This record gives sequence, structure tokens and C-alpha cells, in this order.
Amino acid sequence: MAKIYDHAFFDTKMVPVGEANLSVASSAVLYGLSVYTVLPIVRTASGFSAFRLPEHFKRLSDSAKIIGLDMPSHITFENFTHYLIQTVAANEPKENVFARATIHVSELVPGTRSRGLKTLLSIFLYEAMLILSADGVRLKTSAWRRVPDYAIPSRAKVNGAYVNSVLAKQDALDSGYDDCIFLDAAGHVCELSAANIFLVRDGILITPNASSDVLEGITRRTVLDIASELEIPYVERSVDLTELYIADEVFASGTSASIASVAEIDKRRIMMAPGPITMQLRDRYVRILRGEDVQSQALLTPLRQG
Ligand code: PMP
Repeated sequence: MAKIYDHAFFDTKMVPVGEANLSVASSAVLYGLSVYTVLPIVRTASGFSAFRLPEHFKRLSDSAKIIGLDMPSHITFENFTHYLIQTVAANEPKENVFARATIHVSELVPGTRSRGLKTLLSIFLYEAMLILSADGVRLKTSAWRRVPDYAIPSRAKVNGAYVNSVLAKQDALDSGYDDCIFLDAAGHVCELSAANIFLVRDGILITPNASSDVLEGITRRTVLDIASELEIPYVERSVDLTELYIADEVFASGTSASIASVAEIDKRRIMMAPGPITMQLRDRYVRILRGEDVQSQALLTPLRQG
């Protein structure tokens, strides 16, 4: 289990993490009615920074909008940044951490609705423990299908929808694999339980497009941006499962997965070692996160107390 840091931002102030609690009668607990994001807080030569903070805030706000939740009125981007700075300062981490920021519906027993209800923000930090090993990941196609946009939109990062991920991930673990591959209702490839998927065929980087019932991952976006910079041709399109079986390289991307190369899918060997394009993309991604890539400094927001 990852270590959770002691101090959390909850509603309007910092509290001990054990006191950052929601009522059992809240919609957040009753229906999983909360939206969230997890972002890397990285230690660079000049202190702690948040990776792609505006994009994480935008996705959080967009998730609330899709589900029909009202953001608490004081949650502007500026205040959100300020609360994150407070959370990092209170915990004084010594290494990279993940920040989980959630908008919860805290209203008590309002029934199955979303609009006009009380909401609050929580932020806590935890150890940046990766959910997949960097190399040698083994995947199993799940019998559970990805929830489609017309049921619970994958584009919105809504807590309740993660029951779908839990079903598929646990089934993969029970079968001796590291994670699952979700297919959509038509049998096209979506993603893993909590990471996007990429493949390489004949030097071309391919990933399921944004209309493939995937979460629009911020690491996915970063990988595509890096590919552009490195002049690696890429395409976002629908992907068949059998294309993964015969791909030259397959990898997963995500805040909590980093860039993890896939060795095996459904007992088909993909690669013994990470392929050259995976390595190139991963090297650059890791350097960006460390603040070592001068061109990409703008992706890191310094978390300095003003
Ligand atoms: N897909 C799903 C279902 C996820 O939960 C995540 C993790 N947030 C991702 C993809 C990767 O997204 P990101 O790169 O923004 O972490």
C-alpha cells in the first residue's frame, strides 16, 4: 500500500488526513458521485512542481460538467493552485508524490440527481508508487467491456465508474496477469484499467482515438506531443485487438503507470525488452518530469508559497 501523507486540504482548510471525512449519507458515498484527478508532484532542482496543472484542473472541471456537478464557487484555477501549494507545504515531502484532487458531492440523501447540490474539494498526497512495473507487463483481454460514452462516459473521471476498472483489473489479477485490456462494445481496443495504450507498427505510433471510450489521459497527450517533437509519426484511430498481438511494441501510459512496456497479451509474446520507440518516448517523458528538458519547462508549475 502506498503511504498517505498526514495533512489534507478538505473543503476550505488543511486538516489531519484522518479527519478529511464525508458522511455515509452523502452522494459521494452513496453513488460514487465525485470526480477526480491524480497528478504528479515532482521534485526538481528548483523545488516541487506540479506536472500539467492547468490540464489536470481543466479535466477535473470538465468531468464535473459532464456529470452535471457544480464546482464549489471558490474553486478557481488560482485558488486550486493555492490549495495544492498549501497541501504540499504542510506535508513537506522528501520525494516525488502523487496528488489526488477530488470534487465530492457532500449533500446528504438528495436522491439520484446531481445538479444544485453541495460539493467540496479534497486534496491529499500519497507516495508515487507505480501500478505497473516499467517492463515486462502481462495483459489479459477482459471479459468486462468498457463503459461506453452513452452509459458512464470514460472521458469523465468519475469515481463511481471505477467499479468497471476494478472488475476488469481484479479478474486479470485473479488470472495471474498484471492488468487488463478493455474492449468497447464493438470489440475495439480502449485502454487498461487505469492507463492508456499505445502500439507501434512499422515505425508508426498508434493509439485508440478519443472516441474509443478512453479517458483522455494527460500522459497520453504528453506522449503524442513528444512523438511530434521527435518526428515519430503517429495516428489516433480505432484499434483491433489482433493488431496488438502482432505489434512491434506495445506500452501503457498514465500518471500512475508512467510508460510501461508490455511483454505479453493473452499468452502472445510481444517483446522481451522495451522497443526503441518506447524507450525514446519514456526517456524524454522521464526527463520532462525531472525538469531536465529545457523545452518543456512550461509543463511544470512551480509550487511556491507567495
Ligand atoms: N485511463 C484511465 C481509465 C485512467 O484511470 C487513467 C489514470 N488517470 C488513465 C487512462 C491515464 O490518464 P493520465 O495519463 O491522465 O493519468
